[in-house]
Amino acid sequence: MRPEELNPLFAEIDSLDGIGPKLKKPLERLGLERVRDVLYHLPERFVARRSVTDLDEALVGEQIVVALTPTEHRAPRNPGRGPYRVLAADAKGNICALTYFGRASYNAKKLLPVGEKRWVAGRLDQYGDMLQIVHPDHVAEDSAGAMGKMIEPIYRLAEGLTQPRVAAMVEQAFTRMPELSEWIEPGVYAREGWPAWAEALRLAHAGEAAKARDRLAYDELFANALALMLVRQSNKARKGQSLQGDGHLRDKLALPFPLTGAQKRSIAEITGDMAQASPMLRLLQGDVGAGKTVVALEAMLAAVEAGAQAALLAPTEILARQHFETLRKLAAPTGVAIELLTGRDKGRAREGILMGLVDGSVQIIVGTHAIFQASVSYRNLGLVVIDEQHRFGVSQRLMLTQKGKVTPHTLAMTATPIPRTLVLAQYGEMDVSRLDEMPPGRQPIDTRVIPLDRLADVVEGVARHIATGQQAYWVCPMVRDSESASDDLAAAEARYASLKERFGEDVVLVHGQLSSDEKDAAMGRFAAGEAKLLVATTVIEVGVDVPNSTLMVIEQAERFGLAQLHQLRGRVGRGSEKSVCLLLRSGELSQVGKQRLALMRESQDGFYLAEQDLELRGGGELLGTRQSGEDGFSIASLEQVQKFGEMANDDARLLVERDGGLDGPRGQAARTLLYLLERDWGVQMLRSG
Ligand code: ADP
Ligand code: MG
Repeated sequence: MRPEELNPLFAEIDSLDGIGPKLKKPLERLGLERVRDVLYHLPERFVARRSVTDLDEALVGEQIVVALTPTEHRAPRNPGRGPYRVLAADAKGNICALTYFGRASYNAKKLLPVGEKRWVAGRLDQYGDMLQIVHPDHVAEDSAGAMGKMIEPIYRLAEGLTQPRVAAMVEQAFTRMPELSEWIEPGVYAREGWPAWAEALRLAHAGEAAKARDRLAYDELFANALALMLVRQSNKARKGQSLQGDGHLRDKLALPFPLTGAQKRSIAEITGDMAQASPMLRLLQGDVGAGKTVVALEAMLAAVEAGAQAALLAPTEILARQHFETLRKLAAPTGVAIELLTGRDKGRAREGILMGLVDGSVQIIVGTHAIFQASVSYRNLGLVVIDEQHRFGVSQRLMLTQKGKVTPHTLAMTATPIPRTLVLAQYGEMDVSRLDEMPPGRQPIDTRVIPLDRLADVVEGVARHIATGQQAYWVCPMVRDSESASDDLAAAEARYASLKERFGEDVVLVHGQLSSDEKDAAMGRFAAGEAKLLVATTVIEVGVDVPNSTLMVIEQAERFGLAQLHQLRGRVGRGSEKSVCLLLRSGELSQVGKQRLALMRESQDGFYLAEQDLELRGGGELLGTRQSGEDGFSIASLEQVQKFGEMANDDARLLVERDGGLDGPRGQAARTLLYLLERDWGVQMLRSG
């Protein structure tokens, strides 16, 4: 149960004055649903304003506050087309245009009556030979209030929201702040010279207070580490089953290649864990193409040898199907019963598989999360393998292991070459095996950066490539952010349409908005070699395996992170033919963009690229510009993860060692923190553990 003192913070956002149904939508789009969320909606940046007595004193481009008197309103000739301008004079008679576009112009009429002096805050621009301020941040009758602040926070907005509106909301949220006891270890707290929690939030909204932001980041890292630690603790206390396979099935496997040293080592680590009575929690980390599937198969066979069932969970249907087919082929000589179950299976077939799981005749099941629905029960589920782990959050991971009377062993697999610092922060509850050695004989992928204005050449290159009988991928960016997602989709569809003119039936399109049937049909044609060119958004990022596809074109490559580019490129270079990756860049590149693409040309080592990616992003990153949540943190920046991650982990471990039930005074405070930062799944572990 959430501590009562937090209730005011978890009240709905519309409990704040002035927030009605109309504002709720845009607020939701920003992820702001409760009072708490408003407090943690930290400014993206700050502007420092200068108060000037007249415009002669100001520089173009500068953020200023100045007193102006409107002299004339100029509406656009055609309503709705062109801006609405209010001409206004400063104390010396200099004229400046206050310019409004779209709906904002309705406000201008009311805010700026002709002949009445107003204080205006905004960025001074030049338009032709006229000075102007576009969409002033503030217009007020006197210079008090928001105008008085010379350092002003700038918040991320959604349509329908303004800076003053959000600032007022934040101000009001502060009146709901409860007093909370300190959860940070006193020694750490004193050494770092951090402000208390409430003070830190205040400072973080008021200016670029580095210490305040560090403290808030540390809170998040500590909460995360603590919750993971509690999972680990409760897992150790749980009843699992010792699975010791005798090897009779694994001996029958006739793999077409010898295992690499890294594969052998990982298999030994995994089967070693599975032989223990306490449930395994292990992460298998291995670059694309490192050969995780066979490792998973060996582990699953070991479970079956010991009389248990094994399940493999994939994040998408495409991947589930592919795994199913690969495993069925590889495991054929063992005679083990493998089935596939996805959300699409209905009726008799589904019933049959469900029966097989209950009576144990299905020994290995592959599927999407359909295999963990409440209606699915197992005779004796001993091992759960989760592929592409990063697609699932910790709480989902936990749900999976709750199946069955005894907790199954869990093996998570990821191709995301997560740097060590982030492994700790994201998978702290797990032990890690690393496939740090590629199967022999892989050819390096020839990687080139090409400007978009050579598109025609690239298309002809694709045509020549296809003419040799090989296949190709063409990837268009698809960002998750809902604002630009529809533009991206339109761009992908437009590219598909133009490529279709050139290639006709040889080209297929796959993106996330298609139904599973449509996706499967397109993927099916491509995998069977009927289609030669697959145009896709980043849905193909993980797992897709078509060795005959040896050319990868990535459009707007500058928009992707290094790790993602690497994942995409990993789709080619899987067969014996030489593979090529063309990174199409549009327009001029930023310094970081240039470095990124250069690194891609230079290296094919996922772990190296991931470390470099972290460095590039960590260094050049502005407050709040990061896609929140991509690395599991919404407050802490990558730099802060690197700086404080280990400390937070040590602190969390110490606390759990001293007070595993979080019952003491500091334990209680830490519990409150877990609720505050929504790591309450950690607290749930206390109860069930
Ligand atoms: P990933 O780690 O990306 O899941 P896969 O398991 O799909 O990689 O393996 C990629 C390819 O490498 C597959 O075609 C697989 O058969 C092959 N492979 C796996 N292990 C070895 C090995 N030890 N030697 C040679 N090829 C291997
Ligand atoms: Mg794989």
